[in-house]
Amino acid sequence: MFDVAIIGAGVAGAVAAIALAPTHSVVLIDKQAEPLQRIGECLPPAARRILHRLDLLEAFNQQPHLPSQGMQSYWGSEHAQIVDHIRNPDGFGWHLDRQKFELFLRESAHQRGVECIWPARFVSAQDVGEYWDITTDAARQIQAKFLIDAGGRQSPFARQQGMQREQVDKLIACWAILPDDTQSRMGVLSATKTGWWYSAPLPDHKRVIAFQTDSDQVDNEVKKDLHALIRLALTCPAMARLLANLDGTSKVHGGVHGGVSAASSTRLTQVAGHRWAALGDAALSFDPLSSQGMFNAMASAMQLVDLMQTGKDVSHEYKHQIENIWQHYLIHKNTFYRQENRWKDSPFWKRRHQ
Ligand SMILES: Cc1cc2nc3c(=O)[nH]c(=O)nc-3n(C[C@H](O)[C@H](O)[C@H](O)COP(=O)(O)OP(=O)(O)OC[C@H]3O[C@@H](n4cnc5c(N)ncnc54)[C@H](O)[C@@H]3O)c2cc1C
Repeated sequence: MFDVAIIGAGVAGAVAAIALAPTHSVVLIDKQAEPLQRIGECLPPAARRILHRLDLLEAFNQQPHLPSQGMQSYWGSEHAQIVDHIRNPDGFGWHLDRQKFELFLRESAHQRGVECIWPARFVSAQDVGEYWDITTDAARQIQAKFLIDAGGRQSPFARQQGMQREQVDKLIACWAILPDDTQSRMGVLSATKTGWWYSAPLPDHKRVIAFQTDSDQVDNEVKKDLHALIRLALTCPAMARLLANLDGTSKVHGGVHGGVSAASSTRLTQVAGHRWAALGDAALSFDPLSSQGMFNAMASAMQLVDLMQTGKDVSHEYKHQIENIWQHYLIHKNTFYRQENRWKDSPFWKRRHQ
């Protein structure tokens, strides 16, 4: 019998496991044998505080992540604005090698005594009085007094228990990783008539490019074909300049289309209950414009663990905290989208100005 079972060893689940390990017996379960290559690489400076608190900062600094120098933003105007971290009291942020970061968190959890089980896909959990009886597709049955759903946007435990997800929009991201031999360390953000682009440098001489739009606003080709994605990128002046610096279309040969990722704003209508809580994207998933998803995953893990350490029922206070985050997030998101007024009549922007 474990004190806590955590479904999902992404950023949220692994950070919660590491934070709980000194005081609780913890089992961490993930359906993937190892972290996948995925989009989402900008870690904001405030994450330093959480890494420091978990005694992970020194080891994290040994990893090959890039310092983030900032972003050239073309939002609301064709003129660039530089958004940097120069005045941020926490210093610079990072462009992560996301796979290595998740692997680092999984290994840190294991080293601190967390029982790690992967690959094991969560199937169901039965409340049997004092504990949860958890079934996965691995042979072993797991019992735990408290269950944390850190299974990302799918929120597998909450969904299995019949909880609803509220969806604010239908944003998707079509993305690719390209080779980048330049020394440029700046990200790029640029609005267009049908959505917005971003690009960020990655370790190992790579760069991610991503187009965020509604799924009915983009050709199916762009969703799966690298050439089509690059052709669309070349119609955006800021991206065309970036690609020209990267040696343009020749990079198609070394590039990889990453597919389509859900990028909508969604939340669970109930994020905690009797002896369970949802964390990170499982609780709230943000528009990538915020670049806050991983930080929210880490911060909500720390909030929940702090509440659990009190030994009291956490659900009421945790629900209140998550509701506050969601309301602030919606205000910021709407304010930011309303600053772009160049294509008020196009369906993508109309939907966001309503
Ligand atoms: C286009 C795009 C760009 C983004 N850019 C950024 C960015 O720059 N910075 C940033 O901070 N955030 C960014 N994000 C958001 C960020 O990636 C997420 O917020 C973050 O991954 C949330 O972490 P998580 O641990 O909650 O969930 P996830 O990362 O989704 O992890 C969930 C884990 O649960 C496991 N799992 C799922 N189902 C089961 C099951 N049934 N059984 C067992 N295991 C299961 C999965 O394998 C996975 O390991 C971006 C997102 C998108 C779509």
